[in-house]
Amino acid sequence: MPSHPILIAGGGIAGLASALALTRSGRAARLLEKAGAFETVGAGLQIGPNAVRALKYLDVWECVAPASFAPPRILIRDGHSGRILQEIALGAEFERRFGEPYRVIHRADLLAGLAERAKQHAGIELAMNAEVTSVADKGGYVEITTPAGSERGEALLGADGIRSAVRRSLGQEGALRKHDQILHRALTSFDRPMPEHLAAITLWLCRRGHVVHYPVRGGKALNIVAAMDGRWESEDWSAPAARQEIMAHFAKIHPDLFQVLAISSPWHKWAAADLAPVTSWSRNRTTLIGDAAHAALPYLAQGAAMALEDAVTLARAAERADSIAHAFSAYEALRKPRTRRIAQSSLRLARAYHAGGPLRIARNAVLRMTDPARFLDRMAWIYDFDPRA
Ligand SMILES: Cc1cc2nc3c(=O)[nH]c(=O)nc-3n(C[C@H](O)[C@H](O)[C@H](O)COP(=O)(O)OP(=O)(O)OC[C@H]3O[C@@H](n4cnc5c(N)ncnc54)[C@H](O)[C@@H]3O)c2cc1C
Repeated sequence: MPSHPILIAGGGIAGLASALALTRSGRAARLLEKAGAFETVGAGLQIGPNAVRALKYLDVWECVAPASFAPPRILIRDGHSGRILQEIALGAEFERRFGEPYRVIHRADLLAGLAERAKQHAGIELAMNAEVTSVADKGGYVEITTPAGSERGEALLGADGIRSAVRRSLGQEGALRKHDQILHRALTSFDRPMPEHLAAITLWLCRRGHVVHYPVRGGKALNIVAAMDGRWESEDWSAPAARQEIMAHFAKIHPDLFQVLAISSPWHKWAAADLAPVTSWSRNRTTLIGDAAHAALPYLAQGAAMALEDAVTLARAAERADSIAHAFSAYEALRKPRTRRIAQSSLRLARAYHAGGPLRIARNAVLRMTDPARFLDRMAWIYDFDPRA
């Protein structure tokens, strides 16, 4: 048994999931989170069948499923004419096709479920207010520094998000890309049952913007994200945003969409960013996981799913390999192609979603003419994936 635990910098979805995954093979993990508590901020997350498989492997699904919501369908609508461009049923047939359901959940509820399981586990230690500020690979172990001093680990996972300090320590600076889009989110609670027409995951495609909404909190709140073309420089996930700015940007929209924007408040905003391909995620006893390795724009709704899949693949690689360095190389080789494809596809969607003029007409025609079954076939590379294999 190694004498030091695996250190994990960052207590987001990637960090908590990898602590749970690694301890399945009898390893001890110590997670260091810079915040004083697991963050309760953030918007809704989509949990497709691939993410459900990972949550089941981590033994967390039972605990987070009650806070999730089962949307009946995905609707894609033109934001100006209101025309339905595509409709995909997510009920029993979808579940038969992919073997697991499609759910949506608030980020805070997923984090709470993962944190609860991690706290119950004797092999996991959680340290808060513990920002990792320096990293040194000493050959036989790693040494990191936090405000409380230095400590040693058998290895280090950089699960510290898109602006990862661990990635910088690997010499992989410069990957962060800012895009000319600003994302806004609001969470509106309902004290009576939510109107039926809001139960679907609805994607509205507008000129120079798009809006997605769906219920979270077991159907008691509506999560809404509005993306607008524009530049805003900030690292903040939760800067307050003015509703007037959003309403002014989305001029001449369909009345159904106008109504959803009008009932939603308060709004917060963050700047759209992703990572250019990071050449090398691992060196000896250190590797990157989740957004630290491969943050993508959120338009395929796969950020949380990729972090969960990473954790499972990493744990499976650690079970098979004869050393932690070999496990990290195997994990990186397995995860790079898939996460890169997600990031590239999300980038392409960012352009298509906000199109105007002839591109918008062509996009709408393609969406309208595609049979829903064919549409799902095109998404199968995402949803069929089983990280446990
Ligand atoms: C506060 C917050 C709100 C978010 N809201 C949304 C949202 O609304 N919509 C969306 O699509 N995505 C959101 N995300 C991103 C989304 O959660 C991730 O894309 C996805 O879940 C992958 O998670 P991750 O664990 O890799 O990274 P993250 O979720 O970014 O988690 C990284 C964690 O590492 C911690 N950390 C950072 N640096 C250090 C350090 N040096 N030492 C120790 N700890 C460190 C952070 O505090 C954070 O808890 C949010 C992330 C955060 C942190």
